[in-house]
Amino acid sequence: MNHDYDIAIIGLGPVGSFAALLLEKKGLKVIAIDKEKDIYSLPRAVSISDQGLRMTQEVEIDDIYIKHSTEVGGAGFVDKELKFIGEPIDLKGFTTPNGWPPMRFFHQPYTDKEIRKKLDETSVTILLEHEMMSVEDNDEGIKFITKNLTDSKEQEYSCKYLIGADGGSSAVRKLLKITQEDLDYNRDWVVVDVELTGKNRLDDKAIQICDSERIGTFIPSHLPFRRWEFIIYEDEDKNDFENDKKIQELIGRWLEPDEYKIIRKAVYQFHSVLADNFRKGNCFLIGDAAHQNPPFMGEGMMSGYRDAFNLAWKISYVINNNFSPILLDSYQEERRPHANFVVENSAGIGELMEAYANANDPEDVPEELVAKGYGSFILPNLDEGLFFGGKALDSMAAGQIFPQIVLYTDGVIEERKDHLLGNGFSFISKNKIKILDHHKEFLDQLNCKFITVESDVLESNPWVSGFLELGDTFVIRPDKYIYGCSSNNVSLEEIIDDLKARMIRN
Ligand SMILES: Cc1cc2nc3c(=O)[nH]c(=O)nc-3n(C[C@H](O)[C@H](O)[C@H](O)COP(=O)(O)OP(=O)(O)OC[C@H]3O[C@@H](n4cnc5c(N)ncnc54)[C@H](O)[C@@H]3O)c2cc1C
Repeated sequence: MNHDYDIAIIGLGPVGSFAALLLEKKGLKVIAIDKEKDIYSLPRAVSISDQGLRMTQEVEIDDIYIKHSTEVGGAGFVDKELKFIGEPIDLKGFTTPNGWPPMRFFHQPYTDKEIRKKLDETSVTILLEHEMMSVEDNDEGIKFITKNLTDSKEQEYSCKYLIGADGGSSAVRKLLKITQEDLDYNRDWVVVDVELTGKNRLDDKAIQICDSERIGTFIPSHLPFRRWEFIIYEDEDKNDFENDKKIQELIGRWLEPDEYKIIRKAVYQFHSVLADNFRKGNCFLIGDAAHQNPPFMGEGMMSGYRDAFNLAWKISYVINNNFSPILLDSYQEERRPHANFVVENSAGIGELMEAYANANDPEDVPEELVAKGYGSFILPNLDEGLFFGGKALDSMAAGQIFPQIVLYTDGVIEERKDHLLGNGFSFISKNKIKILDHHKEFLDQLNCKFITVESDVLESNPWVSGFLELGDTFVIRPDKYIYGCSSNNVSLEEIIDDLKARMIRN
């Protein structure tokens, strides 16, 4: 059957926009729909991680984030006198295996605006002020109806796959009758962005404020902006926190009212919820439609970017290269446990803040809670999914992200080399990679790239050389996760046979 589009994306927030750019770049015919005319105006995402920046390289929006962001100086928990509890984490000047600093703070109105402009220049059909009304998924594909909010006219479209990127109150999730698991962190917070009117005199470390009078967060965002977030207690009236005077009172510990302008504020209920399914038939949920967490870890949008990055190459292989749709089963298998970690650990930071605030001595706070709060700084590898043998084996480093090869000049990164890996699977080794004739057609169909890393590059890339000590040839998925690596125990031929069986089975 002919469809109007390969993919429909419902919701053009940051996650839907990223998915649209990724899928369009893969040559797919994409329609993207949003009920709003403009980008979201209230204070939301402020940090992008190293993996986030690496993912954005794929559609060349990393420069947008860099232009409008600042490297994070450090982070830690402080007591009611604003003194650090233990040592703060120093993040400055550090490059991770992804080839970027661990985190940067950006100003979302600037980045979202430029990303929307970039999307406007692509072949994606964009319908703004259109609301998703209904979806029907059957053997012939998907039919969905949207309503034009300017004239109330309804229109039906068809597509092969539909992606719900329509945020926390997702209509797609509700229409598909996908239930959610509530992980039980539901608290009201007020979030305020200010613009400094004079010189900055605030520290460059993000702090979690563990004060029993009111816990909160301070974020040294991209100058001239600064962010504060404060909890609202159950016996307080949320409406009071919409008032500038109240906000000036809260910020008064740091700044006098004539030192800043309040530019945006919002009262949110921070949730921790996870959809029970990230997929139903040919429809998928990504971003906040699939998972929501309090923002203490700065990972909500990142989790959504990971969803889009994980799904886009799989859908593209199915549509463009006729690989088995069974590939798509691995989306939920891989992404749901990872997103669950982010949701749980984000709430863990909130719980640790409350525990520190209420303890007479920080030493009294239970170890498990401290571990949960700080555990969030190291994200897990993938476990079950599209890996050699179906499970990410430690012995092969499978399920881990392969480091990005970078080139330095005078100790400064001059070039990031992910583009060498192309947009399909890639093979990386210190030695010349030998491929058997009967595997060549399959690897061509996968658009594989073969990279032999020269010794001078290995010397300047300790993360890469560290991995290449563990095995001979690394098979890397398009999202840079390791599928497997050959060694004395497993040959490259066995790995390719295994991959082929997973990609073409019925
Ligand atoms: C205070 C705060 C701070 C945060 N800080 C960070 C951070 O530092 N780093 C980070 O990674 N994350 C952070 N997050 C989380 C991050 O903001 C969200 O995870 C992210 O915005 C989710 O993006 P999304 O595109 O999935 O959803 P949204 O941004 O909610 O976009 C959904 C889109 O769908 C559209 N839509 C909804 N329903 C329909 C419909 N029926 N038809 C058509 N369109 C529809 C909406 O108009 C909207 O444009 C923070 C969140 C908050 C609240």
